[in-house]
Amino acid sequence: MFDYRDLKVLSTAPALQVQGMGRLSDLLDDLVVYRRLEPMDPRLPSLQDAWRDMGLADSSIPRKLEQPYARVVTWLLQRARELDAPGQKIRQVIYLGDTATSDSIAFHNVLQVTGWSGWAFIASEQADAPPTIEHRDDGITLTNRWGAIAHWLCWLTEEQGVRIDASTAVIVDIDKTALGGRGRNSTPIDQARMEGVEQIVAQVLGERFDHDLFQRAYQELNQSRYHPFTADNQDYLAYTCLIIGAGLCSLEELIEDISTGRMADFEQFIRWVDARLCRADDLGLIDIHRTVYAHLRAGDPTPFKAFRRQEYLATVRRMGHLPNDVPIERRLQEEICLTGEVLAVVKWLKERDVIMLALSDKPDEASVPTPEQETEGYLPLHRVPTHIVGHPIEEWLPR
Ligand SMILES: [Mg+2]
Repeated sequence: MFDYRDLKVLSTAPALQVQGMGRLSDLLDDLVVYRRLEPMDPRLPSLQDAWRDMGLADSSIPRKLEQPYARVVTWLLQRARELDAPGQKIRQVIYLGDTATSDSIAFHNVLQVTGWSGWAFIASEQADAPPTIEHRDDGITLTNRWGAIAHWLCWLTEEQGVRIDASTAVIVDIDKTALGGRGRNSTPIDQARMEGVEQIVAQVLGERFDHDLFQRAYQELNQSRYHPFTADNQDYLAYTCLIIGAGLCSLEELIEDISTGRMADFEQFIRWVDARLCRADDLGLIDIHRTVYAHLRAGDPTPFKAFRRQEYLATVRRMGHLPNDVPIERRLQEEICLTGEVLAVVKWLKERDVIMLALSDKPDEASVPTPEQETEGYLPLHRVPTHIVGHPIEEWLPR
């Protein structure tokens, strides 16, 4: 007999297993938005067309932690609900995520802008620690097992008495939640991004590309103590590695300038590069620099488009590509898989007529193919098939 108050079952649960192949779109269709907040579902209006109706001050794209982001997302949920159940009001929200800090803020913003009741499930797996689950007063449940999502759902419906029905909105985080579950399968997501940086730098520098120098620069500057310089922005980091690889400055010089405050932030750096590059004759590099600089000045938070395109290809290459019989440990290290337990709960929720939207903070350029790639058969990430990996939890879910 399954007892949701008892976590022991998670220690003794059957090993992780491959549960066939699937796509996020099997359950969510195109009810997906990537960072630009443009719904993939053509029935829903874009931010550019509807920002006034959404209650925004202008058409600039809010980031995940900002309150206007919650406005856009909940407005889209309401509009989507209206499309298939006219007159049906949303009264409560369920949020599935992987990051205690940012997903909590995004969840609280949703409650604040709507007045809905809500509950969030946030997991980051630590398979070598005893299973834990903590139900906080603010509606957020934190756990170190993806499988505990069944315990949480039982707790929600049985102990809290929450009725899941058409008045329920569900927000599913994609990155490291539905795809590449944090603590279990997030390595290949990070690897795809790093490969994207490396490939664009190698492409621009050609024979001058120094793999070891690139690795050193990337590992060093990717650390949080450089966030005042990189703003934790991977596009800025990729561009900086390119400039170091091109020899415009050495890694040591840059570290020195950052630590003494001579180089305050990335904007100063790119201006400095701009002044030096006008005397250079490296056309490939100048071309990339001009494009990045133009996007940056236009306020685009992902100015290094060429890098993100490489990241997209590196990500797709890591989905569903391994044969069915590779050991599970290797699969979780190399292939971006769907998180079986999250999928099982999404399916359970869908059967109860909720309205769902999946969110990704990955830039659209790293998530959706170009028109040319589309004609070659490339798909947006939520439509790419890959293996589903998880513990079988179906029989633990509430009836
Ligand atoms: Mg995430």
